[in-house]
Amino acid sequence: MVKNIIPTSLNEALELLNDRPFKIMAGGTDLMVQRRAWSQTPPEFIEDVLYIFNLEELKYIKEDKGFIVIGSTTPVEDLLHNDLTPFLLKEAIGIMASPALRHMATIAGNIGNASPAGDTLPILYVLDAIIVLESIEGIRELPINEVITGPRKHVIKQNEIIKEIKIPISVYTDSVFEKVGGRKADAISKLSFTGAVNIKDDKVLDFRIAFGAVSATILRRKEIEEKYVGLTKEELIGKVDEIVNEYDPFIRPIDDQRSNKEYRKTVALNLLKNFIITL
Ligand SMILES: Cc1cc2nc3c(=O)[nH]c(=O)nc-3n(C[C@H](O)[C@H](O)[C@H](O)COP(=O)(O)OP(=O)(O)OC[C@H]3O[C@@H](n4cnc5c(N)ncnc54)[C@H](O)[C@@H]3O)c2cc1C
Repeated sequence: MVKNIIPTSLNEALELLNDRPFKIMAGGTDLMVQRRAWSQTPPEFIEDVLYIFNLEELKYIKEDKGFIVIGSTTPVEDLLHNDLTPFLLKEAIGIMASPALRHMATIAGNIGNASPAGDTLPILYVLDAIIVLESIEGIRELPINEVITGPRKHVIKQNEIIKEIKIPISVYTDSVFEKVGGRKADAISKLSFTGAVNIKDDKVLDFRIAFGAVSATILRRKEIEEKYVGLTKEELIGKVDEIVNEYDPFIRPIDDQRSNKEYRKTVALNLLKNFIITL
């Protein structure tokens, strides 16, 4: 018989996770859909469930030593209304699901779900987010791209919990998150594009690009970005076709119920081109 346990502290949750396997549930906005048996029937779980959404000690957003730190049970709606939340993250959250869903959904759940279409993920990649994993054995801090290894695949161990997300504080003179979905709200992305650039005294100091839902995991290629740091804005814009060609081979979307690969690739490259020529 499946047990449902609601721990009252992070320590209790870690002890339980160390004791035996559990399915962690935060807001449940992914899990309750994935485990639904039939329409109008309650979701079915085959493993014990650990409900962590009530852990108040993990509900926070704060600034600490050059990072914005987000506790893992903070609903994304709270982040939308907090001045500390990075602009790009607010852009993604603002068009994620619907307000009702956003009061339950968490960034940690978006990471745990590890979908290439997860809307906060390209932002976490572009902002070099660090994921803090805690278990009874201690803490591991990993860059987001080392946490997610494939569609629905990650390296979070059975006895670990995402404790918090650390985002380095950084400055961008231009940044954009573009989501292409079937409709404005409550739509999973067909694809998404994130661009962030910092240009000071006509010099590109930072140039970052990420795509969602065009490859097995979020696509970010630091070796391409680095080639364009140090250029003037005009030089960067002049190289737009070269940059598009650099990303072209890495954009390998699939056909699914939401879109097809030709559409995804064409639109992704157009969004990249548009971001650069309108800087
Ligand atoms: C109608 C609808 C619309 C949606 N629209 C969007 C959308 O526009 N964009 C989008 O990106 N997503 C969307 N989603 C998906 C979902 O809302 C998000 O992925 C959300 O971020 C999941 O968060 P959650 O807290 O509800 O995760 P849960 O369902 O609780 O968990 C998801 C996964 O993460 C794991 N997990 C959760 N918290 C932790 C933790 N602290 N430590 C370790 N593992 C953890 C769970 O075990 C599970 O595997 C939508 C879902 C629905 C039902």
